[in-house]
Amino acid sequence: MFNLTTDVNTYQDNQMRRQVEMIDLFERSDFSVESLSNLQQKDSEYGKFVSYLDKGELPKSQKEARKLLLQSPDFMLINGLFFHSRIAKSKRAKNLKNYQPVLPAVVVKTVISMYHDSSLGGHGGIQHTIDLIKEKYFFSKLAQKISDYIKSCPACQRRKLTKINTKAGIVAYRTPDSPFQVWQIDIFGPINPISPTGNQYVCTAIDLFSKFVFAEAIPTADTITVSGVLFRMVSQFGVFDTIISDQASSEFISKCFKEVCRLLDINHEYTPSFAHHCLGACERSHRTLAERMTPYIADGKNWQDLLPCILFSMNNTVNASLGYSPFEIVYGRRPNFPLTGHFRQDIKHASKRLS
Ligand SMILES: [Zn+2]
Repeated sequence: MFNLTTDVNTYQDNQMRRQVEMIDLFERSDFSVESLSNLQQKDSEYGKFVSYLDKGELPKSQKEARKLLLQSPDFMLINGLFFHSRIAKSKRAKNLKNYQPVLPAVVVKTVISMYHDSSLGGHGGIQHTIDLIKEKYFFSKLAQKISDYIKSCPACQRRKLTKINTKAGIVAYRTPDSPFQVWQIDIFGPINPISPTGNQYVCTAIDLFSKFVFAEAIPTADTITVSGVLFRMVSQFGVFDTIISDQASSEFISKCFKEVCRLLDINHEYTPSFAHHCLGACERSHRTLAERMTPYIADGKNWQDLLPCILFSMNNTVNASLGYSPFEIVYGRRPNFPLTGHFRQDIKHASKRLS
């Protein structure tokens, strides 16, 4: 736990306070397994299913009773929690959990908000948010509710109006055969306002194989700063074969950058010399990053602190052409979200019982 009253100086104190405030995920909800189970019993739509499965009680109205009996094979009670079970159709969905906790109407908004506009959500698009939530939860009219929510998200509305200047131009490139061999690097900015620590540019890099995105806030776009980023990328992902940059950016063709590449034995190429396929996806990622940052910049939030969350949300987005998210390609699994861990045990029990 942070103890904000300890003898830290004011600067550190403010820093810490900001960090804590940033973790807005946990302020939004208090649902333990017990409170969720409670809310499920009281839910106007699903409460009757719970009493039927628990005590065999049917609604008095014949019409409602019939409807419930028809739908009830899709649901089950596991250790007091009410789950929906799904038969996976697509190849991809087969690897996913077959049981999703049913969300009572009162918490639906909280969960959508967590996946969409909390720091970890990063204001992802409608389909992306639907995919993420559908994998973990069940509630009626799921796609519709999520779509309505996002369509009326003020930050997303604003995002359509504000634009950060990114270097456009879509160029093709051959796909490498493993992660972290070929990176495409770019810079965007200057961003207004400058971050509290004095950064006003973001140096972004995209791995052409997995589409994994790396980004770092930097104060200036000069060659020494950018070479420093390159060096930190190497410390994190290992030395790569090739780095591709825009020829127009003088920071990339300078002596210093060339020297770093030479020392690390990295081949440096420029976008115009490539004429195969696939750099388009990377250009889109640069644009997506800029777009996802816009709501935070417009809200006057410290965009630099939020950068890691935005990267997380981007790396967790399923790439339409690959069918997997960059995170899955690199780590071999999907990341967990704060609430999903609660139900893992229950799902495990259920799977054991049913197999
Ligand atoms: Zn939004």
